Amino acid sequence: MTPQENGRVTSELWVVAEHSGDAVDRVTFELLGEARRLAKEAGGQVCAVALGDHVTPLVESLAHYGADTVYVVEDERLRYYDPNLVVATVGHLCSIRHPALVLFAATTTGSDTAIRLALERQWPFAPGCVNFHWNDGDIEMVRPMAGQKLHAIIGAARPGPRVASVVPDVLGFDAPDKKRSARVVSAEVVVPERSRVDVGEFIAGDPRTLDIAHADIVVAAGRGMGSKENMQLVEDLAAVLGGSVGGTRVVVDLGWLPRERQVGQTGAVVKPKLYVACGISGATQHTIGMRDAATIIAINTDAGAPIFKIADLALQADVTEVLPVLTQQCRQAGGR
Ligand SMILES: Cc1cc2nc3c(=O)[nH]c(=O)nc-3n(C[C@H](O)[C@H](O)[C@H](O)COP(=O)(O)OP(=O)(O)OC[C@H]3O[C@@H](n4cnc5c(N)ncnc54)[C@H](O)[C@@H]3O)c2cc1C
Repeated sequence: MTPQENGRVTSELWVVAEHSGDAVDRVTFELLGEARRLAKEAGGQVCAVALGDHVTPLVESLAHYGADTVYVVEDERLRYYDPNLVVATVGHLCSIRHPALVLFAATTTGSDTAIRLALERQWPFAPGCVNFHWNDGDIEMVRPMAGQKLHAIIGAARPGPRVASVVPDVLGFDAPDKKRSARVVSAEVVVPERSRVDVGEFIAGDPRTLDIAHADIVVAAGRGMGSKENMQLVEDLAAVLGGSVGGTRVVVDLGWLPRERQVGQTGAVVKPKLYVACGISGATQHTIGMRDAATIIAINTDAGAPIFKIADLALQADVTEVLPVLTQQCRQAGGR
């Protein structure tokens, strides 16, 4: 049913959890859902691997979203991402359990671990996958190519766990099953004899400059901001909310924001929990890139602006008046 390594048959499907310390990232729920689906089709155990300095509290939600077993590696040296320790520890666990598949999120750290692990162990690797399926007892990995126009189906020529990174926000996930629980297996961190990377310190990124495609909160600017100087009002609200700054093509063309901040048909498609549209009319080419946001707040002087049709909260007001007040109130309410 599942791939073999040195004659061993395994039926474990692994998800290496991403978390912020106190909560599991939603991409991990997507990966668990995909592993559950594969397990349902052909049997097998869904296992999550949680590494960090205080990860035991995360077991519950990993179980709710599909893990049967959680390998918990708790060590203060894992507080911040250290590829030496993570690769050595996950590699060691794999060499004991021989999982069929090891899924990582295609995030900065997930991609980094996945490729290091696969290269070090010479295991089959497929980056940026969007789907998986069984074929004659083996797992095939599907990834887009040629600018998403083609899908490559990747089968492994070598034995060993199939290692894949998975693009966030593609698979989606079901509601948690709060009745599920998971077996917990504690494991020790593995410190390699030789380190290729020396981890100095952890420097938190500025959320305003995070990739908008992955931001939970996006504060976006349109021509209605009036001037480049007024963009500071959008930056201020983003800063207090811990959000990222985006904008329309007009704003990018005017030079108020760099091209990678553009949302829409010819920019990024975003799906944040909150999207604040400031002085944006709501042209289709823009809304195509943000209409799936969980909550949309729109501020516009024109009551007939199309953006109001998709907004959960419509504020008919001047952005230069409303934004400073909103920022101030968010700060008072405990923002950054
Ligand atoms: C092929 C093609 C691809 C495109 N791709 C994209 C894309 O990827 N992304 C994108 O965004 N656009 C794209 N566009 C452009 C798109 O059609 C719109 O022109 C653009 O989204 C409009 O930007 P805007 O809302 O900033 O400006 P406008 O449409 O000019 O809207 C400005 C809004 O601000 C309001 N306003 C003015 N002053 C204030 C104030 N003081 N306070 C509050 N509100 C105020 C106005 O009422 C108005 O609704 C594309 C167009 C084409 C043809």
